[in-house]
Amino acid sequence: MSSRLIDNLIEAFRCLPGVGNKTAQRMAYHLLERNRDGALSLSRALAEAVEQVHHCSRCRNLTEQEVCAICADDRRDAAKICIVESPIDVEVIENSTDYRGRYFVLMGRLSPLDGIGPEEIGLDLFVERLNEDAIDEVILATNPTVEGEATAHYISELVRTRHVRVTRLAHGIPLGGELEYIDGGTLMHAFSGRQEC
Ligand SMILES: [Zn+2]
Repeated sequence: MSSRLIDNLIEAFRCLPGVGNKTAQRMAYHLLERNRDGALSLSRALAEAVEQVHHCSRCRNLTEQEVCAICADDRRDAAKICIVESPIDVEVIENSTDYRGRYFVLMGRLSPLDGIGPEEIGLDLFVERLNEDAIDEVILATNPTVEGEATAHYISELVRTRHVRVTRLAHGIPLGGELEYIDGGTLMHAFSGRQEC
């Protein structure tokens, strides 16, 4: 028993993180047998999101506009930029701190061995922001992993030469941890206690 279309569907589900063959199979059969409406709306939502969501031209966060809602919001403090690794980190900080500045999303971290250098994480665009906007503080909120720390160090050197204040989230975030998995209270504390680097 083998159907080319079912096999294709199972194979397609395997692009999801953490989904192996068994889980992919379960998902495919579940949708085909029990939830065809759900399957159709999933496929439409996927296609629409993939076609229309792209990177904000100012902060690289995901958005369907040219400029994302945070960058477009005049009430936010344009003199502060918080640098994070991923769009999820923006969500986490928005939800658990009272930070009202703007962001820059690296969409990764420096990892020379994997060929990820300053250009791949958008640092040329970040330097443009530094040159054009009146920035008075850059907050480094990369993850406290080895690569996240190396990335923070690299950026702090970049910023320091321009005489802009650079801060790093305070302790309380476990080494090797990721912002995404830290509870809101700890993150709020780390944020308000950020230190000069
Ligand atoms: Zn933006």
